[in-house]
Amino acid sequence: VKRVVVKVGTSSLVLKNGKLNLRSIDQLAFVLTSLTNQGYEVTLVSSGAIGAGLQKLGLTSRPSTIAKQQAIAAIGQSELVKTYSQRFENYNQEIAQVLMTRDIVDFPESRKNVINTLNELLKMKLVPIVNENDSVAVDELDHQTKFGDNDQLSAIVAKLIDADLLIMLSDIDGFYSGNPQTDPTATLFSTITEITPELTEAAGGEGSRFGTGGMASKLKAAQRIFDYNGQMVLANGADPSIIFDIIDGREVGTLFS
Ligand code: ADP
Repeated sequence: VKRVVVKVGTSSLVLKNGKLNLRSIDQLAFVLTSLTNQGYEVTLVSSGAIGAGLQKLGLTSRPSTIAKQQAIAAIGQSELVKTYSQRFENYNQEIAQVLMTRDIVDFPESRKNVINTLNELLKMKLVPIVNENDSVAVDELDHQTKFGDNDQLSAIVAKLIDADLLIMLSDIDGFYSGNPQTDPTATLFSTITEITPELTEAAGGEGSRFGTGGMASKLKAAQRIFDYNGQMVLANGADPSIIFDIIDGREVGTLFS
């Protein structure tokens, strides 16, 4: 494994009290810097912009209008990247922010430009921090402009740069035969080689949670990875140093290969 994309969800980045999880962000900065120093090319796809924006403004819940949510995402995105920048700097690692919209899927010219940008940053040994450009992409259900969610975005980015591995960090140890929250007999899959209808069923079916987030979305991302012969590991991001275990090939989480 040489080229790695790491995706972290809001649950790993924002605490229950709404504050940014600085311990987690700091550990992430440490782990990703270590990998970069070992010669890995690491790209981070990070959620958490709205969470950071709400905290910055002292709000506890999302506003109702899309325009207000976009404004808060814009405030939060710069706050989030500032925080990453500070934490990475402690380990002498430079970062870069790359915001994307669906152009990169729909227009070859845009796709080529973003691939060039990422390749150049990785060559410079920087860690690109990728998110969707929420100021441009509107309406959560508008698939004309939106990627769907950051699970999809991370898989799209992995494919763009032909990453060897996508590490998807969630709040659960991996993919189970059923939702462990409601099914105590559910067992963890260590390896999945194919997305079958049974797995889609175990994920709670297609279209749960308005088709964004959740395990259905993880499977959809895994399918994108299979489509270009990449690999993906879904694991628990509570402790970001789990990334070391994954890179070293220890059996943690669920490997999609
Ligand atoms: P994230 O926000 O980290 O991307 P999600 O909240 O979208 O993660 O999805 C993780 C949750 O999906 C788990 O906490 C679990 O409750 C639920 N879930 C439903 N079905 C499954 C399954 N088959 N295997 C694992 N988790 C599942």
